[in-house]
Amino acid sequence: MNDAMACASQYFAPGPVPNTLGVPCVADRLCVAGSEAGLVAALRHGGERTMVLGQGSNVVLPERLDQPVVLAAWRGLRLRARGGEALLTAAAGEGWHGVVRYSLGQGWAGLENLALIPGSAGAAPVQNIGAYGVELSERIVEVRVFDRVENRVRTLAAEACGFGYRDSLFKADPVRYAVLSLTLRLARRLAMRLDYPDVELELQRQGVTKPTPRQVAEAVIRIRRRKLPDPRHWGNLGSFFKNPIVDPGQAERLAGSEPGLVAHPVAGGVKLAAAQLIDRCGWKGQRWDRVGVWHRQPLVLINFGEGRGPDFLALGEQVRRSVRERFGVDLELEPSVLSD
Ligand SMILES: Cc1cc2nc3c(=O)[nH]c(=O)nc-3n(C[C@H](O)[C@H](O)[C@H](O)COP(=O)(O)OP(=O)(O)OC[C@H]3O[C@@H](n4cnc5c(N)ncnc54)[C@H](O)[C@@H]3O)c2cc1C
Repeated sequence: MNDAMACASQYFAPGPVPNTLGVPCVADRLCVAGSEAGLVAALRHGGERTMVLGQGSNVVLPERLDQPVVLAAWRGLRLRARGGEALLTAAAGEGWHGVVRYSLGQGWAGLENLALIPGSAGAAPVQNIGAYGVELSERIVEVRVFDRVENRVRTLAAEACGFGYRDSLFKADPVRYAVLSLTLRLARRLAMRLDYPDVELELQRQGVTKPTPRQVAEAVIRIRRRKLPDPRHWGNLGSFFKNPIVDPGQAERLAGSEPGLVAHPVAGGVKLAAAQLIDRCGWKGQRWDRVGVWHRQPLVLINFGEGRGPDFLALGEQVRRSVRERFGVDLELEPSVLSD
């Protein structure tokens, strides 16, 4: 039986949902799609509530999900080079960091700042992953999706994907679009983004003055390993909150009452550093029953082993409340929250 037939028939079966939060979650109906056709068949068969997941590194899960789940698990990379540029197409089930490693290994620049972000390539455009001054949307040419409303495969140019800060059309309408693959533009020579303070400092430490893309990626990897908890030891989802964007008037008032507050003008307002706000509320390193706030990066909530989805949501709510009370700023959760 081929994968499409398998996904359309009996292979929706109870199964564990992978995740980096370290919480046990069983879906009543789970299907692992080993091909695009398998994913499409599963979506058609599973009904409109069927959810697509990759590696579960950006979802808060309940212990039991009655919503059908399809895991995008097929792989494939295709590189087309022309002169100093290349187009790299990655299948949804590729691991994101593997895509970065492959591109650098082939001598192409563009993804170095996005090294070591967990998760699948298919999920990367969903929240427009970003790190160290670069957002994925800057490299995306197009995204192939299965559109469940139009019931067909479509190719969306980057401009049609509604990319914003940790946001996209796919995140805004998760039921409609399933990402099948994405195509990225890379270059042999690229003005690399090196002005992020941590990256600058790390390169200086290594005595590197004219870094290659690989050296930038290595610097990013070292910084991330130092700062972020390894989900194999401490279950986590990376940043639990987005950096808030406030209006310029509020930013100015806060700057008056809170000296040293980090604030960057962006489209639509002024971006504050959620980590700093949380830190100033005294949360860094705090334990909250079975979960806690990572001592090196307060944007990250961690599992002490027995934590469950609701524990993270309860701690998240406490953190949000104290930030709201002190700064009058509402923090928005970054991960998707699934409930049973
Ligand atoms: C230690 C750690 C560090 C992190 N650092 C960063 C960081 O620096 N920057 C950053 O942006 N993120 C970061 N993250 C968050 C996470 O890695 C990314 O959001 C990643 O893209 C999620 O991939 P995933 O396959 O695990 O997605 P999942 O958690 O499986 O899914 C996330 C969301 O995407 C949807 N989705 C997944 N696959 C598809 C698909 N094929 N089609 C349509 N929808 C889909 C799901 O329905 C869900 O809503 C970090 C996470 C961890 C654990």
